[in-house]
Amino acid sequence: MTEQLTIGYDDTPIIPGTTWKVHDSTRPMPSAVAPGSENRLPPSDAVVLFDGADLSGWLSVESAGAALWKVENGYMEVVPGTGDIRTTREFGDCQLHVEFATPSAVVGSSQGRGNSGVFLMGRYEIQVLDCYDNPTYADGATAAIYGQSPPLVNACRPPGEWQTYDVVWIAPRFEGARLVSPPYCTVFHNGIVVHHHRELIGPTTHRALPVWQPHRPVGPLRLQDHTNPVRFRNIWYRELRQQEDSA
Ligand code: MG
Repeated sequence: MTEQLTIGYDDTPIIPGTTWKVHDSTRPMPSAVAPGSENRLPPSDAVVLFDGADLSGWLSVESAGAALWKVENGYMEVVPGTGDIRTTREFGDCQLHVEFATPSAVVGSSQGRGNSGVFLMGRYEIQVLDCYDNPTYADGATAAIYGQSPPLVNACRPPGEWQTYDVVWIAPRFEGARLVSPPYCTVFHNGIVVHHHRELIGPTTHRALPVWQPHRPVGPLRLQDHTNPVRFRNIWYRELRQQEDSA
């Protein structure tokens, strides 16, 4: 006797907004991805931007030459005065993972303590700061969308400890000079949600309101030299596409 393997249904209604029936037997299954052995480690389909070995794939923003930050013991460290660095690789919608540690020797206060930044598409900053017992303005706190939105909570670990950002980034859409859709981000700081589908009001600015500047649908990841020797490690992203796009 042959066992008929029938998975799903073809006598069901179409799901609104799709071309698929409810439980459609022909709808493609999600592709398999092997998670990293710890959740912070890159899964099988991640693009690793920094694996702790060297700064290949990174450039100085100012000179477009070699990135001059220090690499040792599996992390990179800001060398104050050498400027921001950025990836040669450019991307748009993504899931991004970044780990950072602010200096264990606490120096300075407010925005002068453990300041750096993670700039999506080279333009939109998620603040890096030591906000462990360090008052500052709210929209400049650790994990703030700088100058726009404070994080929902302060999830900082003590200075010197490794911390994580996990970001879901939806890039803005432009048609010519016109903004069609703003960027949105969801951010977890040390596993705690600090932004949930947060809308950005423009590129990052200081003491001013942003003005939209149309740009390409992809951009580099940029890390900030704000004169503090902040460390980074284990940086990776996964491109985000709608399932139907990738079928
Ligand atoms: Mg900063």
